[in-house]
Amino acid sequence: MIKIEGGCLCGAVRYVASAEPIVSRVCWCRVCQYLASGNATVNLVFPAEAITITGELRDYPSIADSGRHMHRRFCPNCGVHVLSGSEERSDLVVVRVGTLDTPENVALDSHIWTSSAPHWALLDPDLPQFETQPPPLVKKDAGN
Ligand SMILES: [Zn+2]
Ligand SMILES: [Zn+2]
Repeated sequence: MIKIEGGCLCGAVRYVASAEPIVSRVCWCRVCQYLASGNATVNLVFPAEAITITGELRDYPSIADSGRHMHRRFCPNCGVHVLSGSEERSDLVVVRVGTLDTPENVALDSHIWTSSAPHWALLDPDLPQFETQPPPLVKKDAGN
């Protein structure tokens, strides 16, 4: 297994994953365009228990277009968004791929919330695309 670890820009926050990601997604929802300065965010979804964090993260709570109660967590020193998750799927943690030590190793699975993407967005035509929220991920312990 490839060691997956990363952290924020200033180094105050670090994390390490003890499991493989369940899925990798490029999200074009309107909030992600704010977080990613106009583009989509690129995210890995892990089982929550697989991520160990060191350092302080601040939480920006909001309600997503999907209706989920989101907690987007960022470093209060450098402002970089590191993790995300929802109350409805507290078994999952989303890691922002830009914070990985080695983002090069990521293989993308899909684009989501493409209905919110600007006309100049670059979407990989070879990947599945979902106009809004894709179907819920099946919990791994339920047989995937
Ligand atoms: Zn930082
Ligand atoms: Zn999004």
